[in-house]
Amino acid sequence: MINTAYVQGFKVNLLKYNEALDFVKTSLDNGENVQIVTINPEFIEAAKKNPAFANIIKYAELVVPDGVGIKIALKFKGINQEQIRGVDFAQSLIELARDNGYKLALIGAKPEINQKLVEILKGKYPELNIVYHHDGYFQNEDEIIENIKNSGANLVFTALGAPKQEFFNAKLKAVSQGVVSIGLGGTFDVLSGSVALAPPVYRKLGLEWLYRTIKQPERFKRIFPTLPLFLFHSIMDGVKDNTKK
Ligand code: UDP
Repeated sequence: MINTAYVQGFKVNLLKYNEALDFVKTSLDNGENVQIVTINPEFIEAAKKNPAFANIIKYAELVVPDGVGIKIALKFKGINQEQIRGVDFAQSLIELARDNGYKLALIGAKPEINQKLVEILKGKYPELNIVYHHDGYFQNEDEIIENIKNSGANLVFTALGAPKQEFFNAKLKAVSQGVVSIGLGGTFDVLSGSVALAPPVYRKLGLEWLYRTIKQPERFKRIFPTLPLFLFHSIMDGVKDNTKK
């Protein structure tokens, strides 16, 4: 049983990075169907307005704290939880797949980025078994899901942005067996070298979101007012918890 906390009513699992990796390995080895959500404040603000998305988070087998905002919100509740960054976790899962012969599918990002990522991974990890890949700009979702099933993939990365990737993964879970899926947002852009990884100083301070916003100013409207609002609600959530104690 994994420990769970609730940030503004939304589930977040409390576990160390390696425990999250072990969870994936055990799930794959046992042939379990698992959906992993890499949650950040934008997810929570979106899920408040979208009950179907909220339900997906509720029923996800693993919800890992990707955004620093989630770590801060947990801190307000007196919980110390390390940040499990999607881009790092994806990298570890790729190595896990290589070492254990898991069958990987990569769905998402622009066609040239998806292709570039596959080439980079094949070059870097010749033994990695990529059984299927497709860009994230498809019309027929059912066809992609069918292709994933036919490929025999048991580890599926989806990088379609949230909540699109979470809806896709939930649909995949409903029709599959023994598949672990994870929604990875803009990770393919980073892993393919198309978007720079935040420099160590930003990562250390948990300011990757700031780096991304400086690099892509059009993202400003995504974090503002969402992030300050999220933090305000998280403080209230923490105060409520502490008053109950
Ligand atoms: N994307 C996609 N299909 C879509 C919309 C987006 O494959 O219909 C990709 C997009 O190319 C990018 C990723 O999904 O690689 C989402 O990136 P974004 O930075 O918006 O996601 P975040 O990490 O903020 O969730």
